[in-house]
Amino acid sequence: MKVVNTDIVIIGAGGAGLRAAIAVAEADPTLNIALVSKVYPMRSHTCAAEGGAAGVVKESDSLDYHFNDTVSGGDWLTDQDAVELFVNEIPKELTQLEHWGCPWSREDTGKVAVRPFGGMKIMRTWYAADKTGFHMLHTLFQTSLKYSSIRRFDEFYTTDLMIDDGVCRGCTAIEMRSGEMTLFLGKTVIICSGGAGRIFPFTTNGAIKTGDGMAMAYRAGVPLKDMEFVQYHPTGLPGSGILLTEGCRGEGGLLVNKDGYRYLQDYDLGPPDPWPRLKAMELGPRDRLSQAFYHEQKKGRTIPSKWGDVVHLDMRHLGEKKINERLPLVRDLSRSYVGADPVTDLVPVRPVVHYMMGGIHTDINAATPMSGLYAAGECACVSINGANRLGSNSLGELLVFGARAGRHAVEYVKTVGTLEGDARIEKQAGDAESRIKSLFKRTGGKQRVAALRRDMNMTLEEGCGIYRDENSLIDTCTRIADVRARYRDVRLEDKSNVYNTDLYQTLELGAMIEVAQTVAISALQRKESRGAHQRLDFTARDDENYLKHTMAFYNPNGDPRIDYADVTITKSQPAARVYGGAAA
Ligand SMILES: Cc1cc2nc3c(=O)[nH]c(=O)nc-3n(C[C@H](O)[C@H](O)[C@H](O)COP(=O)(O)OP(=O)(O)OC[C@H]3O[C@@H](n4cnc5c(N)ncnc54)[C@H](O)[C@@H]3O)c2cc1C
Repeated sequence: MKVVNTDIVIIGAGGAGLRAAIAVAEADPTLNIALVSKVYPMRSHTCAAEGGAAGVVKESDSLDYHFNDTVSGGDWLTDQDAVELFVNEIPKELTQLEHWGCPWSREDTGKVAVRPFGGMKIMRTWYAADKTGFHMLHTLFQTSLKYSSIRRFDEFYTTDLMIDDGVCRGCTAIEMRSGEMTLFLGKTVIICSGGAGRIFPFTTNGAIKTGDGMAMAYRAGVPLKDMEFVQYHPTGLPGSGILLTEGCRGEGGLLVNKDGYRYLQDYDLGPPDPWPRLKAMELGPRDRLSQAFYHEQKKGRTIPSKWGDVVHLDMRHLGEKKINERLPLVRDLSRSYVGADPVTDLVPVRPVVHYMMGGIHTDINAATPMSGLYAAGECACVSINGANRLGSNSLGELLVFGARAGRHAVEYVKTVGTLEGDARIEKQAGDAESRIKSLFKRTGGKQRVAALRRDMNMTLEEGCGIYRDENSLIDTCTRIADVRARYRDVRLEDKSNVYNTDLYQTLELGAMIEVAQTVAISALQRKESRGAHQRLDFTARDDENYLKHTMAFYNPNGDPRIDYADVTITKSQPAARVYGGAAA
């Protein structure tokens, strides 16, 4: 087996991975970095982010306002020390990106422009038209090219973490071009592998968002935190699940039901005091808007379409000039995928899974409980998002905590002397390779990847979607456990070595099933409603019993073990989460 000796292994070359790599290279140019990614960096999901990144920049705004919006938006499940650090750091990170060349959209005065975003009660979202992630990722990627200590391994699929005596020392990865296994051996690993929206059938997430890194850490004994909190975005295109950014509503787009009625006015999302408010309603937080869709559907006020029920996004009054200038991608996507031009037509939309608030448990330095293992970006749960992430906080999170992971990994590496145990790790890598090879040798496997994936997807959507209850969750857990058992008999159709997509989809499915199980079991055990986790049988928030983080621990042969951890509260005591006249 090929061995790559390095100091720091970074898994994932999206926004978080690239930011971490740059931070390491800047903090200590003598350290070698292996940046391993299953796709070419610019194909990472960060590239698809449209709307923007929030950070305080205007005089009318303040760090406290951003803090308060984030903590209440997360229904008080956020760790407030992490949120405080985040809101303080993010303006510096966004300015740093500007210096590296990110073309932020400007006002006529030349100052950075900001747009309204859901749940942000003040305009503070920086953007680059509606292609913010694309420009941010380009900026990070081109900056990373300056550093010779960053060695890239594009199209390497990582399979297992290598752990010796409780310390993470690297990982194994398959070079997709040749099918050969490589051992990356170092002193520390930073996982930046992104989210897992693909466990659901309708999602804005790219096909690569399959929770591989979450599953790797979980199988190695690191808990996955708050997995029951899955964000639905209210405006996905039906059929494909492609996102129409919240920027559509930020620029003035309206949501209407089958009668052309702005139904959100019935859901307590109006503009409250004492903030210098924006008109709320369409700019309410994503959880509440997605829940409103569910109620409209129950009342028979949604619109049937060939893709299932939808509501309409009306942007016609914005005019062609503004749409072309601010929302060019939205216009392209709507025309191409649902045949509706926002300039002249109503665009059909529905809630689709967008983001996982939960992830690999880390502290505010991005360190996991395992020595030598860090995690940042969407795969991690630090937690600044709590029970519901506010739109445009995620791009900031990957910058702030990606950089932090890199810097703290450097500090950690300095404390590590000469490590022994390379032979033991090589043996572990050999075992990982044998497990993959056994998939090739297996004959008579009866289960097909596509069928298992469909069963997992539909099970989650039906029983663990926008609303859940005891019965639906018990059913989900049983069916996911069944899919997990059937996966043991999965059949690999393609036995070749070169770009064997069948193999990678099989491995991705294995990761997704583990992640799906943590989502369902964590949801079953949280008997309250909070943020994106809404129970029809426990409709109120229950701070007395559930103001705590769920921790799911891996169990190879059964359901994950669930434990709980305290939430860090510093200056904002839990209160009613108010957007309109009253708390909903
Ligand atoms: C359509 C869309 C629009 C969005 N818009 C916004 C927005 O406007 N504002 C905002 O704040 N947030 C937005 N988000 C959320 C935000 O973009 C993501 O949360 C964020 O970009 C995730 O970044 P990341 O670096 O953690 O992961 P990613 O960018 O997803 O990168 C993950 C990396 O991990 C690698 N990887 C994964 N598994 C493996 C493996 N097994 N082996 C090797 N490599 C692996 C991948 O190759 C990739 O390089 C949006 C998300 C979507 C889907």
